[in-house]
Amino acid sequence: MGRRWWRTSVVAMVLAIAGYLLLAIGPWVELAWSLVNTLGPTAVIVVAARRLPRNARVAWYLLALGIFANGAAVVPNTIVYDVLGSEAYPTIADAFYLLFYPAVLTSIGLMIRRWPPQLIRPALLDAATITSGIGVLAWVYAIEPALDDPEYSLAGQLVRVAYPVGDLLLIFLALILVRSGGASGARRAVRWGLAPPWLATGLITFLAGDLIWLFIGSHTVPDWAIRGIDTFYFAAFVILGYAVRHATATDEQRATAELRPPGIPLMSMLLLALLMAPAVLILQMSHGAFQHGMAIATGSTIMSVLVVTRLTVLLRFAERQTAQVRDLARRDELTGLSNRRAWTDELPRVLERARQTGLPVSVCMVDLDHFKMFNDTHGHQAGDRLLKEAAAAWLGQVRQSDVLARYGGEEFIVLLPDTGLDTACTIMQRLRQVTPAAQTFSAGAAAWDQVETSEQLIARADAALYQAKHTGRDRIVAAGLAEDAATSDAPS
Ligand code: GH3
Ligand code: MG
Ligand code: MG
Repeated sequence: MGRRWWRTSVVAMVLAIAGYLLLAIGPWVELAWSLVNTLGPTAVIVVAARRLPRNARVAWYLLALGIFANGAAVVPNTIVYDVLGSEAYPTIADAFYLLFYPAVLTSIGLMIRRWPPQLIRPALLDAATITSGIGVLAWVYAIEPALDDPEYSLAGQLVRVAYPVGDLLLIFLALILVRSGGASGARRAVRWGLAPPWLATGLITFLAGDLIWLFIGSHTVPDWAIRGIDTFYFAAFVILGYAVRHATATDEQRATAELRPPGIPLMSMLLLALLMAPAVLILQMSHGAFQHGMAIATGSTIMSVLVVTRLTVLLRFAERQTAQVRDLARRDELTGLSNRRAWTDELPRVLERARQTGLPVSVCMVDLDHFKMFNDTHGHQAGDRLLKEAAAAWLGQVRQSDVLARYGGEEFIVLLPDTGLDTACTIMQRLRQVTPAAQTFSAGAAAWDQVETSEQLIARADAALYQAKHTGRDRIVAAGLAEDAATSDAPS
């Protein structure tokens, strides 16, 4: 389906609409031309959908079915009213018109099902809330009056109600599509690399036609005006048909998309939806004709539950992000160990606990020997790999309550609660034994003297490390007992 194919198809469909608008004179020409305007988009979808992966096709075939049924309804409609001169309502034509709604609902439902839940769940809640707000208005001003109209049979009343209910469903779908497209509107969706929301645009165009009909009501309008309104439906069919061109790209982009947290425009829309019910209530009270208490109460209840659920989802999202950021800020990227900040935060806490319990605390500074040479010999990437492997190996030698951190470069630091100097040195010997690639390190160990500050403790461990380096490397020196506790070169 090349560019040329699409350009030709779209131009042909647009010309067909223009022809209908300007040249369709008389019911039979009009009917034939309507069929052309229906079959065009239907055929485009069927042909283009055959290029899609098998599991993605059904949704588009259903959309084509909905368009075909709605557009072809003009045939039974003309036969019943113009040929047979019937005045019945509803007729078989309504079944054709109405088939559009369940077909489109199922079609887009199938598409949405394959998009990631983190995108769909909040979009569903937002769409449901806004639709409920509009639903209160629709109930009070369209649905309930139609249900109460004694001029129609029960079947007639139900069919009349089916149209606004179907439109509410379309509003719901359009909102989900726009929301999960990443933002409100085609321009932003394009900027974010998402395909333009053709489906949403098509549904909104269809709704525009229905909205104009709603305003016309039972007024008589000239033929050319009716053809003008029909143009909305045909344009909607073309736009919906064109959406199939972007089907795969849209799905793929959505699969990796994250829903943006709601901004002021969405929050305003949610608030506006919430205010629909009280607004209707106030209006009716001010007229002294309060009559839709049940609808208003039901609408308010549904919307309140939805909004609080939405806020809960949002809070969870924020909590997750905060936790992620906190974790990132305290973790060393290369080794996955705690970083210097996390370690420095932890030390005073451990010292404070030791002050209360009277138990010892030890701190060990570790610095890899001649690591510059290792890098020079094996390359920086091999150096990185060694740092990672060493960190993982050492981590296996310390307790859960110990804190092993990357202090910077090839320097590490170990915080050992409830551990005296001798045990600390033993643990460091274990670390020497598991260091990979025959790499050696020097270390300085210091036990807290129960009075010094954390800086003083670290300084003593650092001094011991310095000493280890200057007495030949590959050894552990215990601070304060430097002469007699220095251990041999060979790991014990
Ligand atoms: P010494 O035994 O005296 O500690 O010698 P050294 O070469 O280890 O010491 P020096 O402090 O002079 O050099 C540290 C070297 O560690 C410099 C740098 O090449 C290497 N290094 C520091 N951070 C990283 C890192 O993140 N990745 C790699 N691959 N190398 C690093
Ligand atoms: Mg160093
Ligand atoms: Mg070094």
